[in-house]
Amino acid sequence: MDRFDTLRILSQAAAWDAAAPSPRIEQEPSPTQPAAPKGCPAPQVREDAAYGICRVKRLGGGSIPILKVLLSNACSYNCAYCVNRRSSNVRRAAFQPEDLARTIADFAARGVIRGAFISSGVLGTPDDTMERLIWTARTLRERYGYRDYLHLKVIPGASPDLVRRAMRYATRVSVNIELPSEESLLRIAPDKSPDAILTPMTTIADQLRELAEKELVGASSDSFSGMTAGQTTQLIVGASPESDAVILRLAHHLYTRFNVRRVYYSAFRPEGTDPSLPHPAVPPYGREFRLYQADMLFRWYGFSPQELFSASEFLEEDLDPKTSWALRNIELFPVELMTADLMQLLRVPGIGPRSARKILELRKAGRLNVASLKKLRIRLKYASWFITLRGKAPSEDLRFPEGAPPHCTLDRPEILREFLREKRQSPAPINPELDFFS
Ligand code: SF4
Repeated sequence: MDRFDTLRILSQAAAWDAAAPSPRIEQEPSPTQPAAPKGCPAPQVREDAAYGICRVKRLGGGSIPILKVLLSNACSYNCAYCVNRRSSNVRRAAFQPEDLARTIADFAARGVIRGAFISSGVLGTPDDTMERLIWTARTLRERYGYRDYLHLKVIPGASPDLVRRAMRYATRVSVNIELPSEESLLRIAPDKSPDAILTPMTTIADQLRELAEKELVGASSDSFSGMTAGQTTQLIVGASPESDAVILRLAHHLYTRFNVRRVYYSAFRPEGTDPSLPHPAVPPYGREFRLYQADMLFRWYGFSPQELFSASEFLEEDLDPKTSWALRNIELFPVELMTADLMQLLRVPGIGPRSARKILELRKAGRLNVASLKKLRIRLKYASWFITLRGKAPSEDLRFPEGAPPHCTLDRPEILREFLREKRQSPAPINPELDFFS
């Protein structure tokens, strides 16, 4: 098996990890996409995805190509949800750390990628595996002078010393929690334990705190500056019975207590026929999408997880969580744009952080009117119902989207709810943007 056969197997094996988007092989290449690396058997840009290269959206716009790959897909653990588990009969492959480092450095030198995400199955013990991941990262940084983004997976159970060493070479590190409760973890991933996951996460959080106190944590992660800029994690949605409320409370706890920069949600895609797992006909992509929206609400909009739920512990699938909240708290609306503060504006469906700040700026400059409102990136289909401008509903000046039924007003939330429902035909998997450059 040559280097590129190994790469093909190990990049496909890495695809299930949501902490970096997965390649979409059917995707048309962008005209500006760089040529495939020299030596690839079929050097067509269209085939980059087959080698694990995918474009990652950046917060703030644009995207960059990264390589997403495992060091090995052999694993001594047997997590029931994972295609690489011990009992799976997939084709196995492994890179030597030196070879993987050379491959990544090669791709980077030719401009094919601007970042890499490396994970691995557990080869022997967590510490053995962690040593090999660190070896790969150190070779990349020290021998090849690689300075781009490098996301290194920390293996559950790895010792604190190795975790700290990994942080010296990685731009980002992550420990995947995967299952949102101890009970599910022990049932579905019996080789792991909560302690094996939370201890490395605590080590990372403590180390980040220490670096921050010394003002050593880089604010940006596009170019490596000698230290890790943060940790992320992944939660699988739908492999176990926990509700959205349980998942989001856990995520909120991780943001506030573990200095986690981003929680990724991954719709469970059933593999095999394991009786400990559900077997939905379609992975719960709609649920994954709503969890990402809810997650944004408490990261950027000041919501707490508790506010997002009332009678049910699950988010509504056909209404975004902010509109759902607004319709349950209709007495707080309409919000008057001439007097509302930032937090009130952020609670209006259809108004995001950027538009909310812009509204305050325009108001201060005496230029807030219907014409300027129309130019902002506000989703007026939603916002129009929940705001007034100088005491007047903008609906009197703005044309509502076609199809709004008669009597569709704040006073009739049930009719408004029906109008705002999103009838999504076929939910698709999400490639969330990474928080590069944030
Ligand atoms: S530890 Fe579990 S999730 Fe990770 S590769 Fe092995 S079987 Fe898969």
